[in-house]
Amino acid sequence: MDTQLNGTTNARREYWQPALEMQSRADWYDLKLQLLRRHLEHAYRGSPYYRAAFNRAGVAPQRLRTLDDIRHFPFIDKRIVRERQEAAPPFGDLLAVPEQDIVYISASSGSTGVPTASPFTAADFDDWIDFEARLFWSSGLRATDRYCHALNFSLFVGGPCVLGAQKLGALCIHAGTVPSERLLAILRQFGATAFWTTPSYAWHLGETAAREGLDPRSDFAVRRIFVAGEPGGSIPETRSRIEALWGAEVFDYYGLSDIFGACAGMCTAQDGLHWAEDHILVEVLDPKTGEPAAEGERGELVLTTLRKAARPMIRFRTGDIVSVTSEPCQCGRTSLRLRGIHGRLDDMLIIKGVNIFPSDVEAIARNDPALTGEYRLVVERFNHLDHLTVEIERALGHNGPDLDLAHRFGRQLKSITGVSAEIRILAANALPRATHKAKRVDDRRTGVWS
Ligand SMILES: [Zn+2]
Repeated sequence: MDTQLNGTTNARREYWQPALEMQSRADWYDLKLQLLRRHLEHAYRGSPYYRAAFNRAGVAPQRLRTLDDIRHFPFIDKRIVRERQEAAPPFGDLLAVPEQDIVYISASSGSTGVPTASPFTAADFDDWIDFEARLFWSSGLRATDRYCHALNFSLFVGGPCVLGAQKLGALCIHAGTVPSERLLAILRQFGATAFWTTPSYAWHLGETAAREGLDPRSDFAVRRIFVAGEPGGSIPETRSRIEALWGAEVFDYYGLSDIFGACAGMCTAQDGLHWAEDHILVEVLDPKTGEPAAEGERGELVLTTLRKAARPMIRFRTGDIVSVTSEPCQCGRTSLRLRGIHGRLDDMLIIKGVNIFPSDVEAIARNDPALTGEYRLVVERFNHLDHLTVEIERALGHNGPDLDLAHRFGRQLKSITGVSAEIRILAANALPRATHKAKRVDDRRTGVWS
């Protein structure tokens, strides 16, 4: 790999690591296989948990011949990570290095339970920051940018991602999570050309600026917005609305606390998110059968680290429903791309036996100029029958009859998802606005998941 290019800030260069990023799919395969074999051996040698789990499953790292052989290795999930941490506090027996080699931890509780820690060695951390720089570079961020990091820094794995922007030479403003008015003032004062937050917050922030009498397009210098944490960044309708509001390009990123801050990021072609495939092996599995989903089909994302020495993650079930593609990208990079994050397995609603994700509803809500784009799904059960109500808001200044709006929305929803719903039209700003992650589903059914 041409690591000699790392850290340079030649703004004319198009790729961070050209030889790696443009290698053939066959070369990607060979690289991943070699890394995977070595990483499985490291996990087996270093981690009591993996040694026991592999022995129980009757698998041995030395016997891995193809990438497909990963299917014989056992899964791991958030619940197991938490259990192992409790069994051997504070970091658990997934740890594959002595504690003195650890230099950084992030921690996250997810939606429930005790926070789990994600440890990094110094080399893990440096590797991570280098590929964050590579992802930022692919999104067009350069040394001439002023980048404002508006993510939480407290134990949150998204915090250090800012160092990737710093590594490529951008001027970095470590803003963290501050009240909207303060963040707007920071963006203006320093003439930030880029910032990172969640999609719903990027939208909320633009609306807040407009309410203060500012025009996000002309009173700010923002040209790039990085988003993560919600499916919206990969929904073209949501992205283009945020882009129109700010007069900026929106780049979706994907990461998770137990692996890395960002594992995949959108390049300037804005057609999917390139995986850091030299650090992460990607599987997409049919949630019902556990078999690999065909390329382009939706399935559960399962990730395996390929180099993270401190705590290898072998076949981590993310609970995210995604689709991926290996088709060539306009940008020339050859890595696998995340096509869409369609939602969480946990968010998947089953209405009268049909699967529906909030992101399906979002795509419709954000595409109709007569609506604000905000929405909420309310699910109830009457006489043993599921009843879905979708609440949407009439845009300010739209005066057409509510009935037309509701019919139009209901028809589109039915044709995209196959689900019929009652559509309730609310006044603009009637739904609660998210300042962090938007709560889109109110499931009032009892015993649905039991
Ligand atoms: Zn690309």
